[in-house]
Amino acid sequence: MSSAKGSASASSPAALPPGSVIGIVGGGQLGRMLALAAYGLGFRVHVYAETEEDPAALVTPFRTFGRLDDAAALAQFSRKVDVVTFEFENVDVSAFQGAKAPAPFRPPLRAFEIAQDRWVEKQTLDRLGIAVAPFRAIDTREDLAQGLRELAGPAILKTRRFGYDGKGQWKVTDRADADQAFAELAGAPAILEAYVAFESELSVILARDVSGATEAFPIARNDHENHILKRSTVPGGYSEPVEREAIQMANTLASSLDYVGVLTLELFALTDGRLVVNEIAPRVHNSGHWTLDACSVSQFEQHIRAITGLPLRRPELLRPAVMENLLGPEVTKVWTDRSVTSSLHLYGKSEARDGRKMGHRTYWQEQP
Ligand code: ADP
Ligand code: MG
Repeated sequence: MSSAKGSASASSPAALPPGSVIGIVGGGQLGRMLALAAYGLGFRVHVYAETEEDPAALVTPFRTFGRLDDAAALAQFSRKVDVVTFEFENVDVSAFQGAKAPAPFRPPLRAFEIAQDRWVEKQTLDRLGIAVAPFRAIDTREDLAQGLRELAGPAILKTRRFGYDGKGQWKVTDRADADQAFAELAGAPAILEAYVAFESELSVILARDVSGATEAFPIARNDHENHILKRSTVPGGYSEPVEREAIQMANTLASSLDYVGVLTLELFALTDGRLVVNEIAPRVHNSGHWTLDACSVSQFEQHIRAITGLPLRRPELLRPAVMENLLGPEVTKVWTDRSVTSSLHLYGKSEARDGRKMGHRTYWQEQP
């Protein structure tokens, strides 16, 4: 689904020419796949990574190594490239605000301020009229007791910052849970959210270009195991009105931020057909990896197109597909599998620790 606002074209003055340098902050697998897509379009990529072994640092000769909280180094890095983009959301926004870089930040830094703090995130969505689960800010033990009374049912306590793959979250149903969870918070600011009895989880991945035109990818249904994404299935089997509403939610947020790049919304589908946004990611997303093999354009190419001023391509599902994450040691079983029935993507990580995202594979959905 697309919206044509304005008319960017390859000859738009905003488009960066081939050979321009894209700065990617972060060295993980998302940065790696973004870098590979950027090289496919004739750009160069300068990665800011923590170590030489980082997945993205292994695929380009242009690297800066530093800590991700080193404001001076990040500012210096952003002055060396033609556009700055990001492969993860917990970046030091103030470092970039102070960088005085001539290069644009795409997506805009405001998107990171929102995505980094679950309280700001939920408030922003709520104010835009985008449905979220009822939530309360929790700073004290009293806030938690009051929040539980007000939400009147099972709830989830989450740290406002730095949570991922279910870390920093506690399900709270009674007073004993609440005491234990509050102790584990150890004073970190938190929010309490009503527990949503969802039918399924889905994600919308939307790209918005410099002219404001948008393209949404087909919507995937996501299955988690141990709070980590295990599988994305596309098409997700949602009704057209549900898909339209989900895309509209993403469009509303993207245009309110004058967003440029790929933006992801994670949502819950309720049994009565309502949608509730769980969280946002101002970047390409694990649930969109199937686009590398089963779509007319990948989320990585689409992001690079958006941030360099190129026109977006129309995403079309080529064949119903399932993307499966390869977590920890299970990756070794797959790369020795002689019956090659799926396309394999490995991220170049040497140590297969439990739960670590080592790669993914995409296979075709069985035909009925
Ligand atoms: P993370 O940053 O770790 O991805 P999320 O907020 O997405 O954190 O939560 C991880 C998972 O926990 C979700 O994908 C969902 O399965 C479950 N979850 C989170 N919030 C809720 C909620 N309010 N109600 C029910 N399940 C939830
Ligand atoms: Mg999540």
